[in-house]
Amino acid sequence: MEPLHLIPRVTRAAAGSSPAGAEKRYCIWTIGCQMNEAESSKVEAMLSQVGYRRTETEDEADVIVLNSCVVRQAAEDKVVGKIGSLARVKRLKPDVRIALTGCMVTGQETKLRERFPYVDLFFEPSDFDRLVEIVPELAEADADLAELPHYYEPVSTNPGVAAFVPIIYGCNFLCSYCIVPYRRGKEISRPFDEIVAEVERLALQGVREVTLLGQTVNAYGHDLPDGRDLADLLTAVDAVPGIERLRFLTSHPKYFSDKLIETIAVLPSVCEHVNLPVQAGDDEVLRRMRRTYTADHYRDRIEKIRSTIPGVTVSTDIIVGFPGETDEQFDNTMRLLEEIEFDKVHVAMYSPRPGTLSARWEDDIPHAVKHARHTRVEKLMERVSAAHYAAMVGETREILVDGFAKGRWRGRTRGNQLVFFDASGDWLGQMVEVRITTASTWYLLGEPVSVLAIA
Ligand code: SAM
Ligand code: SF4
Repeated sequence: MEPLHLIPRVTRAAAGSSPAGAEKRYCIWTIGCQMNEAESSKVEAMLSQVGYRRTETEDEADVIVLNSCVVRQAAEDKVVGKIGSLARVKRLKPDVRIALTGCMVTGQETKLRERFPYVDLFFEPSDFDRLVEIVPELAEADADLAELPHYYEPVSTNPGVAAFVPIIYGCNFLCSYCIVPYRRGKEISRPFDEIVAEVERLALQGVREVTLLGQTVNAYGHDLPDGRDLADLLTAVDAVPGIERLRFLTSHPKYFSDKLIETIAVLPSVCEHVNLPVQAGDDEVLRRMRRTYTADHYRDRIEKIRSTIPGVTVSTDIIVGFPGETDEQFDNTMRLLEEIEFDKVHVAMYSPRPGTLSARWEDDIPHAVKHARHTRVEKLMERVSAAHYAAMVGETREILVDGFAKGRWRGRTRGNQLVFFDASGDWLGQMVEVRITTASTWYLLGEPVSVLAIA
């Protein structure tokens, strides 16, 4: 998944209008992966549906929702800092209702209640029904809202240009370093037809790009009775009128089948971008990580992806400083990175997570060594990314404009490269051909050449 980030949510719900006379406001703070972002969207949609308006100012809010991540210690520390800062808000305004959700909550409610007694509600990821405990208006909501499935369902009037759609929850792997299976449970695939219907509704609301989400998104369907898998789902979603671009993340190398690769290659809306975390390039480290594949299996999948999907870009995740990782083992990871020349690498220093297998082992790589390895990966990737981007200058690329930032329009290529351009007028949601004029290390600048018609 994408690296840990705070999500500045200028949101759908904020953009939607609340019924006349409604005074109540909510504030939402999200940290972590796209699954958290999708789940926060669901909370926003529910609150806006019952007349709450979004505010970015906690002091103004009647309801504050924090959506947490504990994948690494740094994320957990940020969440703890954020909850701590709300004690002041609660003191000044005792009526404010505060809720904490996300991976920090699963199985920890009793401990959290003792630690943060001023938090009114703790609810586990996706357990949206419990919001009614602090937002009584939800109990009186209209039939549409009451019948919302237990899954993310956008009901806001303005869902934006691009939307996330969770398709599989949980994870059946037990990577030795990872807390996700303990906090998100076993894999549960959403029903096939329900996902397609949700995408159809999104398309009718003006969404042009959909990203299908799961911790192991390419395990989709193995628990469903009819044998349909991610490739079949991509085929069905590709046929939805109005959806111009289709993405999916995060994939596991073990399930990246030839069928899936060949399906990506032929479906017009599926973007030529694959996010395939490798985590390490050394077989012994991969074994201790319990990743269930070898570096050569990974190489084979990349080779098949690149030879089947013309122009594909590939990103990955790496953990440096895993317990016992020797210099030689780390060099094997560097060799794999040099050889594959990924378009993007999300690199993290190993962080022991209580309750996981590797947390029982000594965290024996000193911080300075982890840091030095992290820097080596970053330096390599700066060089690779700058070279990839420089080679694009002069080319014309199709971008979907999804925002306006720092005085420029912003969009992404099908390969997920960030492009900015200057132009007057409203370009939001347009599919534009842009000629690339300037390359920097992590983004491109260009000028619009033509606007493409959207089907
Ligand atoms: N399911 C995906 C996969 O198979 O790689 C990744 C999901 S994981 C929640 C997101 C990323 O967080 C991982 O790719 C990994 O690089 C990082 N991560 C997870 N646990 C970590 C830990 N204990 N220390 C450092 N990074 C970690
Ligand atoms: Fe965590 Fe491994 Fe599952 Fe990814 S596949 S969520 S890293 S346990």
